[in-house]
Amino acid sequence: MTLTVKQIHWLSGALLMMAFLWFGALNIFAAQASGIIDYADETGVRGWAFNNTEADQPLEVKVVITNQASGQTADELTTQASMYREDLAAQGLGSGNCGFDISVPWESYGEGAFLVETYAGGQRFSTKLYGKGIPAASQLRSLGVFRTTAYCPCRQCSGGWGGRTSTGTIAKANHTISVDPRVIPYGTRIMINGIIYTAEDRGGGVKGNHIDIFFNSHGETRSYGLRNVEAFLVQ
Ligand SMILES: [Zn+2]
Repeated sequence: MTLTVKQIHWLSGALLMMAFLWFGALNIFAAQASGIIDYADETGVRGWAFNNTEADQPLEVKVVITNQASGQTADELTTQASMYREDLAAQGLGSGNCGFDISVPWESYGEGAFLVETYAGGQRFSTKLYGKGIPAASQLRSLGVFRTTAYCPCRQCSGGWGGRTSTGTIAKANHTISVDPRVIPYGTRIMINGIIYTAEDRGGGVKGNHIDIFFNSHGETRSYGLRNVEAFLVQ
């Protein structure tokens, strides 16, 4: 069979329309997942994910585990959120068949603290931290996007202060951040780019939604530059 130019025209138009409808449907789907991680502990990750579009159609949940010190992805696991839970039925989440419970081989990832993120329909719906020294109930709350810059003990970055912070501590890499204490009070733990920092310094140029991250050398501050990143409150 050969197609006339007119037929080809019509066919490509129809295909384009179908593609639009398909992507449109995906977008609607992506916006309709809700859920949470209830626990991340030594055995695994438990929670629920509800399909707001089709209540009894279980969602596939992707669990992404990232080493918080290195920022490297340790694992990506998938599971179906289709487990019955009475409490979920009581909350009016369909018939309550939207729980998930996935075992996680933490030992195989080595030492450290891990960021656990869950996705359904391409959308991240919950985040938790798990690891040594992190309470199981610890939860991250997004503070939104901050402007982040970097500084070091050199004269150009810190004047005559060197590594001394305004709270009297000695600044440490992967630990110290300089903040506007009116926005982030001293002592607050903030996760940026997978690393947990403590707000313990301030600088004249750090105002509002701006965080200055401490590094050991000026070279590192240069390569960090300026980045707009999501900051999380570690509770
Ligand atoms: Zn410097």
